[in-house]
Amino acid sequence: MKKVLILATGGTISSRAGEGGLAPTAAPPALMSALEEFRAYYDLTYRAILNLDSSNIQSEEWQLIARSVYESLPQYDGIVITHGTDTMAYTASALTFMLQNLNKPVVLTGSQIPIGTPLSDARSNLATALAAVDHDVIGVSIAFNHKLLSGCRAVKVRTMGFDAFESVNSPDVGEFFADGVHLLSRRRPCKSEPCLLKDKLCNDIFLLRLIPGTNPKIFDSLLELGYRGVVLEGFGAGGMHFVRRDLSPKIKRLVERGVPVVVSSQCLYEQSDFSLYEVGRKVLATGAIQSLDMTTEAAVTKLMWALGQTSDMEEIREIFATDYAGEITFEHLNA
Ligand code: ASP
Repeated sequence: MKKVLILATGGTISSRAGEGGLAPTAAPPALMSALEEFRAYYDLTYRAILNLDSSNIQSEEWQLIARSVYESLPQYDGIVITHGTDTMAYTASALTFMLQNLNKPVVLTGSQIPIGTPLSDARSNLATALAAVDHDVIGVSIAFNHKLLSGCRAVKVRTMGFDAFESVNSPDVGEFFADGVHLLSRRRPCKSEPCLLKDKLCNDIFLLRLIPGTNPKIFDSLLELGYRGVVLEGFGAGGMHFVRRDLSPKIKRLVERGVPVVVSSQCLYEQSDFSLYEVGRKVLATGAIQSLDMTTEAAVTKLMWALGQTSDMEEIREIFATDYAGEITFEHLNA
């Protein structure tokens, strides 16, 4: 019987309707009784470390979760983290970078409807998460709607549908059918290297989604406000305007002042390549770093993590040229 720690952090899965709207509770009776049923198959320990809607989960909470996982992992076969769905993909990506050389399963799950309601998806999502531990799916993943997704590739794509998450630019890790679990890709355990907690993060990151005509002066404001890193979502395969409102000189100024600028696409799928078009090459010439096919969640958390480790621009470039856990496609890195 696998020994599994459930770390509860809040979210809809733990929520009950109150006067102020749906809000999480630390140990909702319906969750406790579901876990009691699962105890026929798993040796479960439940610990509520947070009690928050995931809109309130930020870098400080990621650090608390990462430390709890790191300290508890030696005593368990795997850890299931219950979490709100809204920012789950950010937490999953952040944990991927903070817990280096992870050699056991760490599975996040939640639900679209509270566990105490008849239509709730909570019980089956929990079952999927526990099955992932049972099958030794190494690394950080998200279990949702009978699917298992790599934590650093997951994006929340639906507000109401039960199929709320998608794995972007990477196949699902696994799918659950009537005949059992189909594991499609699996990370190898890093046997030789021990798991490392690298939990320093920089919170001063700005994500800017361009619109046609974004005023270049916004970049001066970001410098004045003390931002240390910027993720910039441009258009299509990789472009930003230079007619009338030329963005490149301002981006260059940021880079020269030691602020890494990571450029990506507003398109959800496939990789961006700023070397294709003139509107992209001008941006690349500023010293901006390409995010290639990373999700926005992965690019943002990788930058927060990178700036937590170093403020050296070359080291940050090196971090973005490294695939830590499948967050970026190796072939694109070496193209
Ligand atoms: N607002 C909730 C949260 O993210 C939504 C959910 O869990 O589905 O905490």
